[in-house]
Amino acid sequence: MNMCKWVAENLEKYEHGGLSDAVRNAVEKHLGACEGCRHLHERMTRIRQTLVKLERVRQAA
Ligand SMILES: [Zn+2]
Repeated sequence: MNMCKWVAENLEKYEHGGLSDAVRNAVEKHLGACEGCRHLHERMTRIRQTLVKLERVRQAA
């Protein structure tokens, strides 16, 4: 099994807390060990924060 692909497929659910403890632990373990997936996760987090900010600006206007 390609762990990086598996993690990428589960990152979104991981962010939303939609994973079981066992799966979340496996994702976290891989993020700790794999620089590529850690960067992917950081990018996703940053993009989501930007979207949240934009949505706030839009609602305030
Ligand atoms: Zn990886």
